[in-house]
Amino acid sequence: MVAFTCPNRDGSKGYGGCTYCNVDSFTPTSRTMETMKAQIEYGMKKARKSYKAEKFIIYFQPNTNTYAPAHYLKTLYDEALSVNTADIVGLSVGTRPDCLDVEKIALLESYTDRFDVDLEMGMESIYNETLSQINRGCSHDEFIAIMELLKNTKLDICVHTIFGLPGESKEMMLAYAHEINRFSKITFVKFHHLHIVEGSIMGAKYKKNPFPLFSLQAYADFLCELLPLVRPDIIIQRLFGISDLDMLIAPNWGLRKSEIQTFIDNEIERKGIVQGVAYKG
Ligand code: SF4
Repeated sequence: MVAFTCPNRDGSKGYGGCTYCNVDSFTPTSRTMETMKAQIEYGMKKARKSYKAEKFIIYFQPNTNTYAPAHYLKTLYDEALSVNTADIVGLSVGTRPDCLDVEKIALLESYTDRFDVDLEMGMESIYNETLSQINRGCSHDEFIAIMELLKNTKLDICVHTIFGLPGESKEMMLAYAHEINRFSKITFVKFHHLHIVEGSIMGAKYKKNPFPLFSLQAYADFLCELLPLVRPDIIIQRLFGISDLDMLIAPNWGLRKSEIQTFIDNEIERKGIVQGVAYKG
């Protein structure tokens, strides 16, 4: 089993991790398995059955998957990509801006002749005050610096954000779009609303002192304001993310994931929202 951690967990930058995070809320089932091969084969079997998938992307998701020496990372990525050479076509690596360097970027780029490789970068917020409050251990200036290092990369860059973090107004969140737009290397984005999960620091605090979170309608309305601002060539991979219900404290919108997606899609269509129409390049 792969056992990464994060610099704001292991003491190098802090303890406890990001306050909203419980890595067990990501993909609990397969990660309890002993070996990476078993995890991958389980995931492929499930995706074949559920989605009739034929080709697969290896996704290193929980924790910080570049937070180790490059030679160790190579061993892990090589092992994962060799599980099924016929059907694995891509590698996606979740990480944070402060855990990358030239050597690790070169390692990831070395796979691009055989695989689609994307780097999923947690930006989360564009405000240092917010990042500090959520114990991110990484500033937005570090995000800007790593994007500079990646400006000629062959990797696809996916940026991950969270909307609804305490202290951010709607106008502050809409400004994320302008910040993302200015980095031409950003190919993909994953947008998430803040959800509070069991086992997180924020979860414990929320139970004592609840604070406002997005309702589904308010979040859909927000997305309808955000999407026109987002550069039209950026592919939006996600509009929301939600943990399994047994891990979720709030907001519980009382719908399944597919129903939430349909609700948001319907609102976008009803209002005639088009990505990028308000983008001024
Ligand atoms: S959100 Fe990412 S960087 Fe933060 S503690 Fe969780 S896994 Fe680590």
